Amino acid sequence: MTEVTPPISEGQRVLKQPAISFEFFPPKTEEMEKSLWDTIKRLAPLAPSFVSVTYGAGGSTRERTHSTIARILAETELLPAAHLTCVGAARGEIDEIVRRYHDIGVRHIVALRGDPPGGIGTAFSTHPDGYQTSPELVASIKRRYPDIEVSVSAYPEKHPESPDFDADIDVLKAKVDAGATRAITQVFFDNDLYFRYLDRVRARGIFIPIVPGIMPMHNFKQARSFVTRAGTSVPDWLAAKFEGLDDDAETRKLVAATVAAGQVQKLNKHGVDTFHFYTMNRADLVFAICHLLGIRPSGAQKAA
Ligand code: FAD
Repeated sequence: MTEVTPPISEGQRVLKQPAISFEFFPPKTEEMEKSLWDTIKRLAPLAPSFVSVTYGAGGSTRERTHSTIARILAETELLPAAHLTCVGAARGEIDEIVRRYHDIGVRHIVALRGDPPGGIGTAFSTHPDGYQTSPELVASIKRRYPDIEVSVSAYPEKHPESPDFDADIDVLKAKVDAGATRAITQVFFDNDLYFRYLDRVRARGIFIPIVPGIMPMHNFKQARSFVTRAGTSVPDWLAAKFEGLDDDAETRKLVAATVAAGQVQKLNKHGVDTFHFYTMNRADLVFAICHLLGIRPSGAQKAA
């Protein structure tokens, strides 16, 4: 007899099986490369919709991003998405990067303005002949390659350089008008911020998916410093959960998985059915969180 998997239900509401995607960064050393590939092999059977590879600040990983994307295409069934920023290159150079991606079969780009070449908090400037804004970059990619899907960023706590939410959402709107069909959010830890942001975005007539970016914090201290600089607030209740664990990596890991799993399960219960994981090139926590969402390797899906 064939076993039929019942839909995931919560009361009268039927929840869809979540769709997931994973973000990696291009490795710097052979050891990091091996660790990335162990991670990709562990996570690939979870059948993500796509996997993305970041582009180092100021374009510093241009070749490494390309070679990681090319290897994913050559050696896996995964659909890669290449991050690309406007920083540090003339239009012609950026166009050439996009052409090379298109030539090898890449059909998804995460198009970004990028951080200032001097790092977050310094004044932003682009190459004089470069794309000046993310909507310009999105428009150029879509004009030349309509078959490339373009995702962009979104900021539930607004971008730190943005004077207010309206100005921030104006830029999101311009990116959507230029052809972006998905936004992935900056990491956030308070789900209310995401839902409030979603309300603001929908009220402005933006209806593309706003996919929550989820970061399990392997190393709370390091991650806090990094995300705070990018404009993400870290609630006191979250910091309290990691108190006293600076020298206890094992417990930190369990706490990090529990916190992130709680966050995604709550989002899922409120109807969010797509998640983007900032993996930090590590599989263990993300694998466990996906398991708790009911996602199993080889398509053997279970109710969460
Ligand atoms: P935009 O969407 O263009 O702008 C964000 C906001 O900043 C706007 O809403 C606007 O209000 C404000 N703003 C933009 N320009 C100005 C200006 N000139 N003056 C005043 N306000 C302005 N960075 C990398 O280097 N490589 C990556 O691979 C990468 N991947 C990312 C993936 C995701 C999902 C996210 C959320 C961020 C990523 N970043 C990456 C970080 C990103 O480059 C920075 O946050 C950068 O500062 C803004 O780029 P953006 O495309 O998000 O900006």
